[in-house]
Amino acid sequence: MKRTKRTPKVRIHIVSLGCAKNLVDTEVMAGVFAVGRFSLVADPAQANVYLINTCSFIHDAREEGEDEIGQALRWKKKKKGRRVVVAGCLPQRSPEEVHERFPDVDLLLGLDDVPRAAEMIESCLEGNVAETTITGAPATFLYDHDSPRLLLTPTSFAYVKIAEGCDHRCTFCAIPAIRGPQRSRDIDSVRIECERLVDSGIREINLIAQDTTRYGADRTDGATITELLKTCDQIPGTYWLRLLYTHPRYVTEDLLATMAQAEHILPYIDIPLQHINDTMLQRMGRRVSNEETIRLMEAIRSTCPGITIRTTFLVGFPGETDAMHRELMAFVESFRFDRLGVFTYSPEPGTPALNLDLPPVPQETADARREELLELQQGISQAHNDVLLGETLDVLIDERVGPGEFLGRTKADAPDIDNCVHVSGPEGCLELGLVPVKITGTDPYDLYGDVIVT
Ligand code: SF4
Repeated sequence: MKRTKRTPKVRIHIVSLGCAKNLVDTEVMAGVFAVGRFSLVADPAQANVYLINTCSFIHDAREEGEDEIGQALRWKKKKKGRRVVVAGCLPQRSPEEVHERFPDVDLLLGLDDVPRAAEMIESCLEGNVAETTITGAPATFLYDHDSPRLLLTPTSFAYVKIAEGCDHRCTFCAIPAIRGPQRSRDIDSVRIECERLVDSGIREINLIAQDTTRYGADRTDGATITELLKTCDQIPGTYWLRLLYTHPRYVTEDLLATMAQAEHILPYIDIPLQHINDTMLQRMGRRVSNEETIRLMEAIRSTCPGITIRTTFLVGFPGETDAMHRELMAFVESFRFDRLGVFTYSPEPGTPALNLDLPPVPQETADARREELLELQQGISQAHNDVLLGETLDVLIDERVGPGEFLGRTKADAPDIDNCVHVSGPEGCLELGLVPVKITGTDPYDLYGDVIVT
């Protein structure tokens, strides 16, 4: 009997916005779609469903989400039967606002809708109104090692979300209200997921959460980030383990000693400091002082010599004076971070910072402060990179960008947020994963080099 190939009923085009934590949610949804026999299509023209997983962290992220929704709605108008689905932080935070601004959106998916996203979309395609779980109550969903998941990152690396939600109350941040209280996975679940990833050939696992250092604090089994790292470090194989999103208040000596002694955990720490001025830190609700921060930074460098330290700062928070900004500049100049990002303050609905009776910083001033910090860091970063000229470094190849041309990263660079190495080398580099690269050129951000062929 001749078989006819049937076009899958649901052909879905997915756009994932925002951070790696949101990307993991997208990947779990994509896994749910794969089980539901949806086909994922890269070209929206081939799709009948356009899904946007949004971010709502700051104003710019919301704007990006809204632009993408506008684009999807224009796509919808071109053909009958098409559906637009909006998922993630934007509808979770304010579903009414999304409905009001974009009445032609067909379906909203909240954070707790992830496991049943496929059935909700099918129902929507059949013309039914799918009930979402967005109720205004904090989200509770947490994926585990048995959740279906389709990786959307290059074959070299993956993210593993070890906890969801956040129990801190940084006064500028809307995340706890959107993502709910912290809920940590159990150590075994994380270990099993990491083992499977290593077995599948993934060479770098990035452990993520809103605050990885508070991992386990909500559990009753005594799980801690240190225990988790020790457990994952014992997984046999050739791979890197990278710890992202730590909080300065909870980086302990024990954690640093574990990182220093581990076989797979990279000498890299991502530690958003937000500011260095005591008054600013206090107003931001960071629960760590200038003195404690400086002591911690010194401890990180002395316990883990050669470690790469990445941080982010927030400028233009209400009441930030020129003198406070100068203090931050002086700190950055003297500490010479390896990697540094800067955000400008964005007043977020529902956050305590809105009620602070402090003078707002004009946007132009905040933008100028950001530029000034980034310019300072550029010189520091160029100097860090210049030291590497002529060195041979292990580079993890992420992508082939042309014949004999690749993009990769060193241990000092996390995916998506840090620097790249532009690599020239023989075809097949991508399959090799980790290759030795001789550094032949630098700029303030990136390195350039040739694969050493043995
Ligand atoms: S630690 Fe602070 S900034 Fe980070 S997600 Fe939690 S509340 Fe937001």
